[in-house]
Amino acid sequence: MQRIDHVLALSTPGAQLTVTRWHFGMLGARPKVFIQAALHADELPGVLVAHEIKQKLEVLEQAGLLRGEVILVPVANPIGLAQFQNSTQHGRFDGQTGRNFNRGFPDLVDAVAALIESQLTNSAENNLHIIRDALSCALQQLTVNSQLEALQCHLFDLALDADLVLDLHCDSEADLHLYAHREQLPIVQVLGAYLGVAAILYADEQGGQSFDDALTRQWYQLKKRFPSYPIPVGCTAVTVELRGQSDVNIKMALADADAIIKFISWHSSPSANKVEALHTVQQKSTPLNFTEILASPISGIVSYTISYGVEVSPGTCLAVIVNPISGETLELITQSGGIYYARNASRYVAAGTEVCFVAGDSIQRNTDNLLSS
Ligand SMILES: [Zn+2]
Repeated sequence: MQRIDHVLALSTPGAQLTVTRWHFGMLGARPKVFIQAALHADELPGVLVAHEIKQKLEVLEQAGLLRGEVILVPVANPIGLAQFQNSTQHGRFDGQTGRNFNRGFPDLVDAVAALIESQLTNSAENNLHIIRDALSCALQQLTVNSQLEALQCHLFDLALDADLVLDLHCDSEADLHLYAHREQLPIVQVLGAYLGVAAILYADEQGGQSFDDALTRQWYQLKKRFPSYPIPVGCTAVTVELRGQSDVNIKMALADADAIIKFISWHSSPSANKVEALHTVQQKSTPLNFTEILASPISGIVSYTISYGVEVSPGTCLAVIVNPISGETLELITQSGGIYYARNASRYVAAGTEVCFVAGDSIQRNTDNLLSS
């Protein structure tokens, strides 16, 4: 195990922010796994899970049972972790730029396409290495203009050539769920089975260049650009939503860490050993653009009528919004039905606020930007 501290560029004079990572296994060994927690710095369940993963990886490494290399970043966002206003932490948006920490990761497709155009071969294995080198080269050529961009480029650099990326987040109040690329579902469903997730939400592109989406999207885009060459997808990336923001406790973290370690072990095992799980795991998955988001049309107090983490039928009332001045009350009723996997922790909502989230399969959202702000 090796600890490396990376000092973020463009720090405030007199202050210094550091991203610490732990390396396990042999440098450069395959598969390479990258795990980070709390890119949204106020989403802390993953930090505790990363703490437990670290201890389990140490044991595996010392016993000689770790295949490949694992990089673990337990606190991915020291900028957001330190952002407080009036005693309240603000870990989702960067205070300087106003940008969501998990949007706008680099789009390297054009730069990489120009670099590899004359290098591609008829060997998928060769092309994998050519593209990974080009991705790294294209990233190094970017200019960072803020500490946020310095952070994003650093994290992207660490994960850019990883075979497997797990980005540990959580929702406001929620059951366990995953975000994944549609074509990566066979692998992601195995992770879902180990974790016991309530839902897997998938898309070809989520929109917004979130960390996992940006890492996978570039491979699929390059496949489209160069259809006459065999281009593999070099990275499986998943956003793991570890329940809600207040679901931080050692018992759950131990169980989640155990599940993730089992998944990593499965992922790094020889391909013949994987086939059985790939064929037997049938975790329910839902297209992300079929997620029903119930927003409140009025401002008011939220009273939830049923617990989340359950399957609901179309027509079920999930919450009542009360305007205490006008006396108006309004029911939020799911049209699609499905798995009621998340809800807003705030008990006061302004008009237009997204309140309840249901993974359904009957009502399609027509938008290129499938993620919440
Ligand atoms: Zn998040």
